[in-house]
Amino acid sequence: MSPAEDNPLQAIPQVDELLQRATLQPLWRTLGPRQARIVIRQTLEELRARCTGAPETAPAALAAGLAELEPALAARAQARLRPSLRVVINATGVVLHTNLGRAPLSPAACARLREIGAAYTNLEYELAAGRRGKRDSHVEALACELTGAERTLVVNNNAAALLLLAKALAADGEILISRGELVEIGDGFRVPEILMAAGARLREVGATNRTHLADYRQAAGPATRLILRVHRSNFELSGFTSRPERAELCALGAELGIPVAEDLGSGCLLAPEASGFPQEPTVAACLAAGMSIVTYSGDKLLGGPQAGLLSGRKIWLDRLRAEPLFRALRVDRLTLAALEATLDAYARESAEEVPVWRMLRARDLEARARAFALRLAPAWRAAVEADDSPVGGGALPGTRLRSWVIWLHPESIRCEELARRLRLAEPAVLARIQNDRLGLDLRTVAAEQEDALAGVCARLAAGDASARCPAQVPGVTAKG
Ligand SMILES: *Cc1c(COP(=O)(O)O)cnc(C)c1O
Repeated sequence: MSPAEDNPLQAIPQVDELLQRATLQPLWRTLGPRQARIVIRQTLEELRARCTGAPETAPAALAAGLAELEPALAARAQARLRPSLRVVINATGVVLHTNLGRAPLSPAACARLREIGAAYTNLEYELAAGRRGKRDSHVEALACELTGAERTLVVNNNAAALLLLAKALAADGEILISRGELVEIGDGFRVPEILMAAGARLREVGATNRTHLADYRQAAGPATRLILRVHRSNFELSGFTSRPERAELCALGAELGIPVAEDLGSGCLLAPEASGFPQEPTVAACLAAGMSIVTYSGDKLLGGPQAGLLSGRKIWLDRLRAEPLFRALRVDRLTLAALEATLDAYARESAEEVPVWRMLRARDLEARARAFALRLAPAWRAAVEADDSPVGGGALPGTRLRSWVIWLHPESIRCEELARRLRLAEPAVLARIQNDRLGLDLRTVAAEQEDALAGVCARLAAGDASARCPAQVPGVTAKG
């Protein structure tokens, strides 16, 4: 018996042979030799595993595997070359989708990321004076101008802002907080636990539905360092409820000689007339009511990069800036560049340049949805209907936005399967599922993304289950 008959698996090529094979050279050049070996080894292992089944099916499996070897190598190479962090078309209509990275940045902010990311900068250097400067300086003046604050610090996110606040002002004492404001912000993280992680003790006051000024006053003692009010960003309390006005709380703080801070969460900079959300307090309104410090996210209603901002009175923010923990929470130049560009849009009263605001205030959704549904026909049966969607991301909890949704009725597969194929498409698409229908809400789809979305839908309708763009690896076509 020849060795091949003795052991059929010997028909599988060697790693080195595949590395030398002329038809595969473009693929290996793209991957580089190290990754090429990994891809070959993994593909061959998979092939061997498939051929170790029952003796009667193994030869057929081996023959099929060998015939498909080059496409299998190309497919694995392609999967490896695709970045882990990639673009997702958000067709859910949820504007601040935390799992999808919250706010997409404005073109101006993206341009600044390119420019500042590629170069040395004056991040911590005063060019006029020729000496060391502070990284805060780049957005501080603008943020103060827009909020009426005396100082603004920027840290990694709003959770970091709370940690810094509690550490600098209350690590050796107590924070008074209403039982109606012990918020869980998502992914199992809770505001009270963040405060306690800084070493502060929490003194819960009032009841879940009602907290009175007298509750704060009674609870205050020699160890009280801070009164904290927390925005109920992701839930609503209605019915028999009450809490003190900001000004009352701030007056009590002044009487006790302690700061009063507000965790505003979403951080709206637009006044109600401009935002269209009358119930949403602005950072400026909170500070005008007397808050010592307001903390807010950079990537919620502000519409910028992930960041946490602390705006307020200089005496308190100076203490926060001097806290050693600040160094561990500070942001890099990319965050500052994107934030400065985002704040600049507000300074020019051009909030429509900030994608979050353009999406929240979109008025052309019905027309876009109807035009898009026509594009999908006849491959897809699509119905356009009015619907509404939440804002998401811990913002405007009671608000439902009026939207127009394109509902797709897949004929041969289940709705969940269609949703899965959309998620695995290139680019990935996240849709809305409701009552066994799959909906596309264009509110959160940029106009520039419509062609790509239509392309994915067309490829899925044509039966290409993966709906990937044609192979991008030169030379060899991937299959499946
Ligand atoms: C979102 C939110 C946070 C957390 O902000 P991140 O920027 O995600 O860290 C904290 N408090 C409130 C009230 C929030 O809404």
